[in-house]
Amino acid sequence: MPSRSTTVPADLGFAQLLRANGLRATAQRRAIYSVFADAAEADSANAHLSAEEVFQQARVQLPELSRATVYNALGELAEAGLLGLVEGPGPRRYDANVMPHHHFRCRVCHQLHDVELDHVEVTLHERGFMVQSSHVLLEGLCPTCASAADPAPAG
Ligand SMILES: [Zn+2]
Ligand SMILES: [Zn+2]
Repeated sequence: MPSRSTTVPADLGFAQLLRANGLRATAQRRAIYSVFADAAEADSANAHLSAEEVFQQARVQLPELSRATVYNALGELAEAGLLGLVEGPGPRRYDANVMPHHHFRCRVCHQLHDVELDHVEVTLHERGFMVQSSHVLLEGLCPTCASAADPAPAG
């Protein structure tokens, strides 16, 4: 098993993966994908971006980008398996982490955090269930919002 990170493919892998899906590694697609690479590098918990957020950030690199180009490219990258998809609540988010995983969503700041819940699938498998896809969404307060919240119980 290669030891390189599986979260964000190297640039070469990016171009190859696009080609395998009949897509060219255009400047637009690179700029859009690099928004995720940068976000994942800064904080993997923040690497879940709505199309509008990607548009605003990619436009800094490539001012001629149109909203339609960004929306189309995100769909193509998700279809090619380079980005994951997280459906609402709230706007659909694209995920730099394409490995199977689940999410914790903070009810205050709405950030998504990746969580591993492998034992759920393993337990089901042991009971004879064949899990084909899964997405568990846990909700509550992230550490930052929990420590900012009033610790006194209400009522
Ligand atoms: Zn929070
Ligand atoms: Zn995620």
